[in-house]
Amino acid sequence: MYCFQIRFKSVVASLLMSGIFASQAMAQSFDSCVNGLRQTAMNQGISQNTFDKAFKGIEPDPEVLKSFDYQPEFRIPIWDYVAGLVDDERVADGRAMMKQWSKILDQAEQQYGVDKNVIVAVWGVESNFGRIQGKRELIRSLATLVCANKRQTFFRGELMATLKILQSGDIAQEFLVGSWAGAFGQTQFMPSTYQRLAVDFDGDGRRDIVQSVPDALGSTANYLHRAGWAEGEPWGYEVKLPENYNGPSGRTTKQSLAQWKSLGIKRIEPVNSVMKKQMPDSAQAALILPSGAKGPAFLVFRNFNAIYSYNAAESYALSIAHLSDRIQGGSTFTTAWPTDDAGTSRAERREIQQRLVDRGFDIGDVDGLIGAKTRTAISEFQTSVGLPVDGRAGQRVLRALRTAGSKSTGQ
Ligand code: CA
Repeated sequence: MYCFQIRFKSVVASLLMSGIFASQAMAQSFDSCVNGLRQTAMNQGISQNTFDKAFKGIEPDPEVLKSFDYQPEFRIPIWDYVAGLVDDERVADGRAMMKQWSKILDQAEQQYGVDKNVIVAVWGVESNFGRIQGKRELIRSLATLVCANKRQTFFRGELMATLKILQSGDIAQEFLVGSWAGAFGQTQFMPSTYQRLAVDFDGDGRRDIVQSVPDALGSTANYLHRAGWAEGEPWGYEVKLPENYNGPSGRTTKQSLAQWKSLGIKRIEPVNSVMKKQMPDSAQAALILPSGAKGPAFLVFRNFNAIYSYNAAESYALSIAHLSDRIQGGSTFTTAWPTDDAGTSRAERREIQQRLVDRGFDIGDVDGLIGAKTRTAISEFQTSVGLPVDGRAGQRVLRALRTAGSKSTGQ
């Protein structure tokens, strides 16, 4: 749940990456930076012992700075984004988790008034139901960012929050690992979010969003509750626009449902749609068009914004919302994405990778994650068979790989 626009590239980062990091001067400056942090920590009530234990053997992590400065060279189309996050595998996993944790989820729904399907959908998207939580040591990552002057105030606050977690004894340091930016646990909370919103839902006296599923689910419910979740209301639903619609849209442009209806916008009632409470005509809603007026359109209510607050991206919020519907038996979107090359599921992405490996391409691990190596291999394959070259793991390249079989291309 950590996301921001990279605003600048610093000279420091490129120096660090070119190996000067290891120099005595830099090491000293990291040490003196850590000394300054020790003082800040003491001022905030963190004990010398907690601090020294936390920083024992900590060195800066150049990989973290690379991640900070990394600017993806292309934007992922919304249909690729949603196809990877809301695939049959995650829907099936979500349903299994609903069953396995039904008692806890019922409790969380009751106590916080938040739809349990949405709680599970957040869990599924944030950490693949606890399976992917990140592997970077929080203290190390955050100290690296602070000492390299990266959004220093923000990351210093997160570092102090991490030290407070250690001091409280809620989570041991070996489990305080996560993304390069410090999001951790099954909920991928930032440390300050953990401080504000994590709850002990299994009653063992510790708030442990890393190892305790009940704590993770309860904490997510608390987060959404505090973000303004309105009990019993839907997040929104897919709608049909009138022909050539060019009226208002956008998440922050709100008007009453009656006004949207007067513009000719109608709720789509697909087969297998999830039963949702009818919202009154006075309800405030926004029209979102993630791929313009030609693609799927949605009217969203305030609960969509509660999900959005978890990670400020509409594609993210829509994926969670949609996954929560699919888990309950809801259908896929009725209107197709405006593309002739639809996105692929994670199973299909693994198949694409395996077929590339079979043809002699080096794509790293067959893990369904489409990174730079896979994209390069796809581009080369596309060139070799005369397809348009975009490096995307879409349906078209999957079909072409199936047709081509595993014949070696002499890579
Ligand atoms: Ca607990």
